[in-house]
Amino acid sequence: RQSAFRSDIEALLEQVGTGKESLSFMKRRMRRLTAQWASAARRLDDSLRSQWREQKRILVHVGFLTEESGDVFSPKVLKGGPLGEMVQWADILTALHVLGHNLKISVSLKELQGFLGVPPGRGSCPLTGPLPFDLIYTDYHGLQQMRQHMGLSLRKHKCHIRVIDTFGTEPAYNHEDYATLHGYRTNWGYWNLNCRQYMTMFPHTPDNSFMGFVAEELNGTERLSIQRNKVDSMAVVYGKEASMWKGKERFLAILHRYMDIHGTVYYETQRPPEVPAFVKNHGLLPQQELQQLLRKAKLFIGFGFPYEGPAPLEAIANGCIFLQPKFKPSHSSLNHEFFRGKPTSRQVSSQHPYAEQYIGRPHVITVDFNNSQEFESAIRDIMRTKVEPYLPYEYTCEGMLERVHAYIQNQVGFWPGSPPSPFVLLPNSSALAWASNISTPPSWPPLSALRLLASLEGQSCIDACQSAGLICEPAFYRFINIKEAFNGLEVQCEGVEAEMNHIFPAFSVESSECGLQKDRLLFSCAGANTKYHRLCPCRDYRKGQVALCRDCL
Ligand code: UDP
Repeated sequence: RQSAFRSDIEALLEQVGTGKESLSFMKRRMRRLTAQWASAARRLDDSLRSQWREQKRILVHVGFLTEESGDVFSPKVLKGGPLGEMVQWADILTALHVLGHNLKISVSLKELQGFLGVPPGRGSCPLTGPLPFDLIYTDYHGLQQMRQHMGLSLRKHKCHIRVIDTFGTEPAYNHEDYATLHGYRTNWGYWNLNCRQYMTMFPHTPDNSFMGFVAEELNGTERLSIQRNKVDSMAVVYGKEASMWKGKERFLAILHRYMDIHGTVYYETQRPPEVPAFVKNHGLLPQQELQQLLRKAKLFIGFGFPYEGPAPLEAIANGCIFLQPKFKPSHSSLNHEFFRGKPTSRQVSSQHPYAEQYIGRPHVITVDFNNSQEFESAIRDIMRTKVEPYLPYEYTCEGMLERVHAYIQNQVGFWPGSPPSPFVLLPNSSALAWASNISTPPSWPPLSALRLLASLEGQSCIDACQSAGLICEPAFYRFINIKEAFNGLEVQCEGVEAEMNHIFPAFSVESSECGLQKDRLLFSCAGANTKYHRLCPCRDYRKGQVALCRDCL
């Protein structure tokens, strides 16, 4: 069945249900952004020119909101607890609904069992018969619950699952045996999925799919009024929980010499002691009122926590400059409590690496806060700099709809994997091409986007592709995991061995050793090793929509 865009969300709101503060928060957000989603849908509909879009049966099981997982989030919605996940789930639900798919939503184990056709009272009765859904979006909690309640049949239906995973899961952690053998085992990972089934909040590693969320967009009138009402000496501090302000007195004192400081810190009856008296604390604000505050403010300042939330994008979209600390050394699962046990080695170089790397100056300024001079001069610069509100396309409703549409229609066949394919090399080019007598197997992104590179020693394919203005594309590894790829790069190999090693395919110049990957689950953009140059499958990407290549739609 062809799926048709929807502009009305009443049916969705009804499906989301009631009884939890988190659900109310999500519904308020959905209502507030309805018009924005509807006009984005019209634009995308136009640009896709009635391309065939299959209507999918989709189950969304929000594991972290179920009582069975402890639901620690819902009681904290009005108390400064994390809201980023709820923002993202609200937007995912809206995107799927607006794209016209047939949606079922579950926030409890009972609903999950009902939808999967497990008879009530038969807790772990395995699902028999075909899965009644084409796709299931869930999270790590939900995955665990599905394993308990679907039993072994989960394995059979794995390819239909998408895991919403804020910080991302790298291949070395995802592969159960490899993780166990090589010290990558965590409480979360080792599900042996295709890593593109994990969908992140920001484009962290291209090994995962980038799901994202949206921020509010401005119309012409709003832009004008922001321009008129900006107060150059007004700062808002990022951090709705008092603990995020702890130990920041020194920075606040310096900032206060230049600007009036506002906060939105949750409190019960008294001002939290962490928030100095000179700060105007509004208490936790409804999202809409926070937007209003950001429209007046010139500076949105982070003190290092929370990591990688939605708020900085909202601030920048409302014309603020985001000032944040550079982390030296970077924070990661190896050196920081917050990331410990997360299935990734990703190096977090600042409070918000996306803002730092994808947006940058003049909207984002990342400095070493311990250098008072640098910190102070950044504040002075910010007061003088005029900036326009800015929102990357990938965080607009249209951008998110376009991306989710592309994933739903094209990310198929994660399981079982396609075998590696014979190649010939184009003369004097690093691109690989098909022999003309071999029919091209389907690939998405399309193979025409493939560019083969060798990384520097110790460099990951994320960085190698990035330094060529490209992005690593894990879907292309199976095409370059062949002997001919080494010849194409004029690498001298003594011998070529296939091994289970998340660095491979790779080669060592010193030992003339060349290695191919034995297990496709270990293809990894993220891996790096000082002894090896890696073979990297890169592709182009659209400006402001890094998830998609030029010919991806
Ligand atoms: N937020 C809010 N009221 C406030 C402060 C923040 O509604 O007073 C919202 C904000 O609009 C953002 C969400 O909280 O969409 C999550 O923000 P944050 O970046 O702090 O991420 P978190 O750590 O909560 O996941």
